[in-house]
Amino acid sequence: MSALVIVEPGQDPQNLVALAQPVTDAVEVVVLAVAGLEAGEATAEVVAGLVSSRGADLVLLPATPRFAEVAALLTGRLDAACAPDAIALAMTPDGLTADRLLYGGVVVGTVALQRPVRVVTAVVKPLEGAAAAPEAVTPPAVAGKTLTGRTETAAEGGLANAERVVAFGRALRSQDDIALVQALADALGAAVGCSRPIVDDNKWLDLSYQVGLTGTTVRPQLYLALGISGQIQHLVGMRDSTLIVAVNTNPSAPIFEASDLSVVGDLYQIVPRLTAALAAR
Ligand SMILES: Cc1cc2nc3c(=O)[nH]c(=O)nc-3n(C[C@H](O)[C@H](O)[C@H](O)COP(=O)(O)OP(=O)(O)OC[C@H]3O[C@@H](n4cnc5c(N)ncnc54)[C@H](O)[C@@H]3O)c2cc1C
Repeated sequence: MSALVIVEPGQDPQNLVALAQPVTDAVEVVVLAVAGLEAGEATAEVVAGLVSSRGADLVLLPATPRFAEVAALLTGRLDAACAPDAIALAMTPDGLTADRLLYGGVVVGTVALQRPVRVVTAVVKPLEGAAAAPEAVTPPAVAGKTLTGRTETAAEGGLANAERVVAFGRALRSQDDIALVQALADALGAAVGCSRPIVDDNKWLDLSYQVGLTGTTVRPQLYLALGISGQIQHLVGMRDSTLIVAVNTNPSAPIFEASDLSVVGDLYQIVPRLTAALAAR
């Protein structure tokens, strides 16, 4: 079996390589240049071309929102088997199997990948140290779509690689109150992140700000969680942060089991005082 690992600049391929190694020694890593490849269809077409030119029968992609779309398109295009959110691969008498997270990470299920080509996605971390040179690829023309440069949202790219993140959850009472969080983030030189209800339910911010299983995985030196309960789907996206500080009114909030510093209190009291203290320094 021959594996092809695809990442974007700034993403560490190591998790994907480690996932492939138990089932093959032949692992090739390609860092895709992003410019001109914003559309999922275009990326899927480029990756499909690489799969056939390199003769790969296993493709591993980052489990990010962007590559989730690419994985689905690629699976259709290659008539492949697909295992999103995989955590282990194994060669069994029945062929290649994947252990994958199901129901938002609550359960691990094993699926058999019984097609000639398999597409797998898994969590990747931000790259530490020098990045490999991106592979030069020509963006294909996609029928009915114009591939133009897209302005990045505030959190895109910045959030995944930020050294400090200030994230907030459903405890925030109104969209205007994001200004409180932003002021603290500015004082810390941090990127703003949020939990899923802020994106899905409140629709205050777009998906690029969401931290977690179906959002961005972050690994900053400081992760400050404000009014976030700490459900597993959020934790998987931030638990590798170096220092986790959580502020929550509920002393039993699960986030405190993952945090290095637990502050039981009201974010509306604590955030302005912390911002003022930082500004005074
Ligand atoms: C398939 C699937 C994928 C998911 N993916 C993600 C994901 O990527 N990211 C994600 O975040 N979630 C994700 N979720 C949702 C996840 O399960 C939780 O519902 C979500 O993380 C909860 O968000 P929250 O902590 O902001 O809200 P809540 O769980 O409602 O927590 C709010 C917290 O704020 C505290 N609080 C209240 N008032 C204050 C105050 N004044 N000061 C301080 N603290 C206060 C409360 O004690 C509580 O702990 C996913 C769920 C599923 C099923």
